[in-house]
Amino acid sequence: MAHVLVVGGAGYIGSHMVLALDQAGHRVTVLDDLSSGHREAVLAGRLIEGSLGDGQLLDGLLASDPPDAVMHFAAFIEVGESVRDPGKYYRNNFAATQVLLDAMRRHGVDAFIFSSTAAIFGEPRSVPIDEAHPKGPINPYGRSKWMVEQLLEDYDRAYGLRAVALRYFNAAGADPEGRVGERHDPETHLIPLVLQAASGRRESITVFGEDYDTPDGTCIRDYIHVVDLCQAHLLALDALLDGAPSARYNLGNGAGYSVREVIDTARRVTGREIPQRLGSRRPGDPARLVADSRRITAELGWSPRYGDLEDILRHAWVWERHMAGV
Ligand code: UDP
Repeated sequence: MAHVLVVGGAGYIGSHMVLALDQAGHRVTVLDDLSSGHREAVLAGRLIEGSLGDGQLLDGLLASDPPDAVMHFAAFIEVGESVRDPGKYYRNNFAATQVLLDAMRRHGVDAFIFSSTAAIFGEPRSVPIDEAHPKGPINPYGRSKWMVEQLLEDYDRAYGLRAVALRYFNAAGADPEGRVGERHDPETHLIPLVLQAASGRRESITVFGEDYDTPDGTCIRDYIHVVDLCQAHLLALDALLDGAPSARYNLGNGAGYSVREVIDTARRVTGREIPQRLGSRRPGDPARLVADSRRITAELGWSPRYGDLEDILRHAWVWERHMAGV
């Protein structure tokens, strides 16, 4: 069993990862500055409060209790904010990540799992999107992630630091047992917003455009259950610990659902009304984003357990009811 440093382990995906690692018998140390994560979301392992951009802190940490691998979930994720304040995104998502990687090099830690994103592809030229699809991020958020992927290639070639980059499509859902869930502030993601409209924490959900070139006119996305994402990380961890080379994988269900389908399914799953408004298009939203995840299935044996949108919504609803107290 391995010792894994989970950077950003108090956030949405990180907190699920900590539970998955613990369940798989691994030892976990979490590093999180709690700028957007929550202390009470860390349900296993040791939490160290601090920043991944703090080289001195990392030196102490990696020298006193060296991990076998590092997983990195500590990024800012709001596309609109990244356009308004790119400095924040390049500083944290890129420069601080480099500080972390340099500290790993100094301490001989050579296995890294990176949370990348479908945003590195920008406006897709073809769908479903496989790993070879041209990269062309259209905002600083996507660019900061793509820059890290390129840095990882160079660090592997020059320093032998092996990395698996997992390009998430739309992470959604929550721990089926309701222990942790999605809790962004402000919340910008469709599924939690729809469920907040169902629970009454929000008046309505605004549909961002219904004039796209899709069957019902609303955007299509590939929603992947956070537990399935974590499973992919566990497989990537095993591969790296077995000496596998660096790799990049697209991670989605391969099924796309439209905004309207998400709202209709949420109505069924929750049994509640979900008031809707029609809004204008959100800048930078491609009509369709769907993953081709065949590579990770072929190479690591990954397959989604909760591929159904209903499962994703049911588990997210358990969490929303907990948050809303309904
Ligand atoms: N969306 C929407 N209303 C909202 C939030 C999102 O219609 O209040 C749409 C958005 O335009 C996109 C889809 O839902 O087509 C998923 O958006 P989200 O922000 O969850 O993820 P993204 O695809 O941007 O990563």
